Amino acid sequence: RPRAGILLTGSELVTGAISDANGPWLARELGALGFDVVHTVIAGDRPDDLRASLDFLVTEGCVLIVTSGGLGPTADDLTAEVVAEFAGVELVLDEEVRSHIEARIAGWARRSGFAGPALDAATRKQAMVPVGATVLPPTGTAPGLVVERPGGPLVVVLPGPPRELRGMWPSAVAAAPVRALLDGVAAPQELHLRFYGTPESEIAHTLADLDTTGVEVTTCLRRSELEVDLRPRPGAEERAQALHAAIIAAHGKRLISADGSTTDELVAKALLDRGWTVATGESCTGGMLASRLVDRAGSSAYVAGGVVAYSNEAKTALLGVPAEMIAEHGAVSPQVARALADGARDRFGADVGVGITGVAGPGGGTEAKPVGFVCFCVTSSDGQVIGRELTLPGERQDIRERATDTAMHMLLR
Ligand code: ATP
Ligand code: MG
Repeated sequence: RPRAGILLTGSELVTGAISDANGPWLARELGALGFDVVHTVIAGDRPDDLRASLDFLVTEGCVLIVTSGGLGPTADDLTAEVVAEFAGVELVLDEEVRSHIEARIAGWARRSGFAGPALDAATRKQAMVPVGATVLPPTGTAPGLVVERPGGPLVVVLPGPPRELRGMWPSAVAAAPVRALLDGVAAPQELHLRFYGTPESEIAHTLADLDTTGVEVTTCLRRSELEVDLRPRPGAEERAQALHAAIIAAHGKRLISADGSTTDELVAKALLDRGWTVATGESCTGGMLASRLVDRAGSSAYVAGGVVAYSNEAKTALLGVPAEMIAEHGAVSPQVARALADGARDRFGADVGVGITGVAGPGGGTEAKPVGFVCFCVTSSDGQVIGRELTLPGERQDIRERATDTAMHMLLR
């Protein structure tokens, strides 16, 4: 597979002031096109550092480099200059880009009443493009660029704001030089498996007895699930299929999906297939389950609502959990989890209710109910009641995330 590199620019990324949102996204897109992403480099807004990063990616054999950031009007936005120098070409004023930016700024100036010579200078700067570059239409103000360095690599220059970068990506992939590079690159025929409750070591054990020649196998723990991806090199597709089947045969009981679909998609589908709605009564997860359920577009078809009932009083007042029950069994108890689930289902008129109550820590643990002890209950209108109690490992945030994962998986059953 052809090698590709990603260069993320911005001092705010290097210092940790903001977290990168472009690298993983670009890596997935490039991987899906068939590139082997070998490095993601983060560099501050200094020309020498940007140049050194580009040179490094060249020595690593990248035929394609995608950059993010530094296309704006300010003095620290240097990517176009540095890439032009890297490709050995001058910058020239692109009239079409200039009129686009001017029109945008004029509209903005009319609305805000702010305009002046500084904006003219800014317009000029953003309209400077390397000679011979393909200009990608701006999704904000700055255009993107595709710059060919003689002898390679090809450099795709994209803006930093994630929304602008993602919006511009399709036109970058469609640009003639990128098309030419993609010619003959096959999109990978990846196979996916997703397990819940299977340790990584067990998959490794199974794989040790199998012939994986020509198939790149990666495992990744995410959201309490183990994801296994099988990526065959050309000619090894059948072996990947056989591996896929063999892993399913050995671990089928814990299999969530074999076609790449996620737990969130499967929960949505399970509810939609039955025409059911769900309501949540959450204590220690503080709304994380409701938030995860509504993350998906179209969730209004199956999410009725949720209540964060954190204090005992809220549990009683909002979800009808009897105060005596809390006094007798404690707020973190299977009884209260059940009452939260029933209360949520009842108050929202939903078909399924989920109750979660637990000790998120770091304080508040006892010998009987240590930090991480969480009680779950899912009840449904057809009379099913599923209860679970678990002691989840980790710190407060881990416990709350794992509790949310657990509840999602209970909804799958
Ligand atoms: P602008 O015209 O907005 O200046 P730009 O292409 O010059 O765009 P940058 O100056 O590098 O981009 O970044 C602008 C803002 O975009 C950053 O302050 C940050 O909020 C966001 N941003 C940039 N890069 C990233 C990234 N890798 N991940 C997440 N956000 C980013
Ligand atoms: Mg900028």
